[in-house]
Amino acid sequence: MEKTFHEKPLEEWLAQCPVLADIIATKPTFWLNQEIKKFSQIRDQIGFNQADVKDAADRLERFRPYIAQAFPETADLGGKIESPLKQIPAMHKEIEEYYEVTIPGTLFVKLDSHLPVSGSIKARGGIYEILKFAETTAIANRLLKTTDNYEVLDSSQCKDFFSRYSIVVGSTGNLGLSIGIIGAKLGFQVTVHMSADAKRWKKELLRSKRVSVVEHNADYSIAVSEGREQAKTNPLCHFVDDEDSRDLFLGYAVAAERLKTQFREQSIQVDENHPLLVYLPCGVGGGPGGVTFGLKLAFGDDVHCFFGEPTQAPAMLAGLATGLHDGISAQQLGVENKTIADGLAVSRPSGLVCRAMQHILSGIFTVPDDQMYCLLALFAQCEDIHLEPSALVGFSGLSKLAGVWEKLSISPEQQQHTTHLVWATGGNMVPDTVWQQYYKQGIKLLGSFSP
Ligand SMILES: *Cc1c(COP(=O)(O)O)cnc(C)c1O
Repeated sequence: MEKTFHEKPLEEWLAQCPVLADIIATKPTFWLNQEIKKFSQIRDQIGFNQADVKDAADRLERFRPYIAQAFPETADLGGKIESPLKQIPAMHKEIEEYYEVTIPGTLFVKLDSHLPVSGSIKARGGIYEILKFAETTAIANRLLKTTDNYEVLDSSQCKDFFSRYSIVVGSTGNLGLSIGIIGAKLGFQVTVHMSADAKRWKKELLRSKRVSVVEHNADYSIAVSEGREQAKTNPLCHFVDDEDSRDLFLGYAVAAERLKTQFREQSIQVDENHPLLVYLPCGVGGGPGGVTFGLKLAFGDDVHCFFGEPTQAPAMLAGLATGLHDGISAQQLGVENKTIADGLAVSRPSGLVCRAMQHILSGIFTVPDDQMYCLLALFAQCEDIHLEPSALVGFSGLSKLAGVWEKLSISPEQQQHTTHLVWATGGNMVPDTVWQQYYKQGIKLLGSFSP
């Protein structure tokens, strides 16, 4: 472990930022952000605005005819890539028993695990970035106008044109899946640089779609920087930079307005007396960050967003708690980044996302792998829905609210009217044989659980 960070010895950092002790000890923790501000005071300093999100939402609308045609499973929704919102009272009870706590309010899950096309939250940002690249290049080469029916992009003429371009991305798995699937469908040549954590089935699935997979026996940051280098040498190459992409962020942010519509449809109120608490698994930060920004635009100070990270990969926590952002990695603190949650196995956060979250994120908690397995089994038993370990992290956030309500200025009365939303970020594409192993491990651990 390094003993100084930015010329300050570790002891000084520990005094200034006590949560570092938990990070270093890989002890589950709950950090509340002291830098949070009223949304109206800082909305102009975040680096993104409402018009940016609307531009992304409009673009996704234009692409609906193409998506419906290219991915028939989305035809029912008219080419909209969206996931269900579900109330889960049985899981609410299980969580209360498992953690031995009472959780006032009502519990919902957002099933991005079941997003069509790529079965994870990456079907928002990842697909959006590639669609935008395709639209921009097609328009610049007079193959498309924004007023056209975008089904034309599914033609052999367009695919031949796109095959001159390549797309490169570095990923722990799910981003590569989403980029590979949409990129190959449009006709692009896609290369995915995978970190050592990436699961074998994800690599095999991509290869079956004629995507080149480059395997790195290294951390996610290395996979990203290798990809970045490869892309530099080719002017017809678009690099999807998971550590620094406005497009990814904005693609994720579109989720919030759609959620608002789902709340309306299910008569769920969100206002000062009906707070919304959202729990999002965080890797490099783009997914949960984009969603959080969108939610703040939609609900302002009535929504409180929390990120969950593995105790083994507390990247965003280290970055925000120290204020060093992408200037520090959990690995520098001696945390190894060994976790079953491959979607979250990141040790350095996105600087872009850190800056955006600084004053709007309410807090971050960390979760050991054993809890993810247990929650996976409990959720499967309650709802018969199969998630991947990363996607369970949010549930753990419900366990430590006792000391949090007061700091959020939520009264006991308002607590009763709170909507809790756990963002289940992936799982639908996990092969059953792989999932059964997770489940078995969860059942085994539940048998021996003592909180
Ligand atoms: C990528 C991913 C996340 C987190 O998104 P980031 O943009 O990396 O923070 C969470 N859950 C799953 C399943 C993911 O694949």
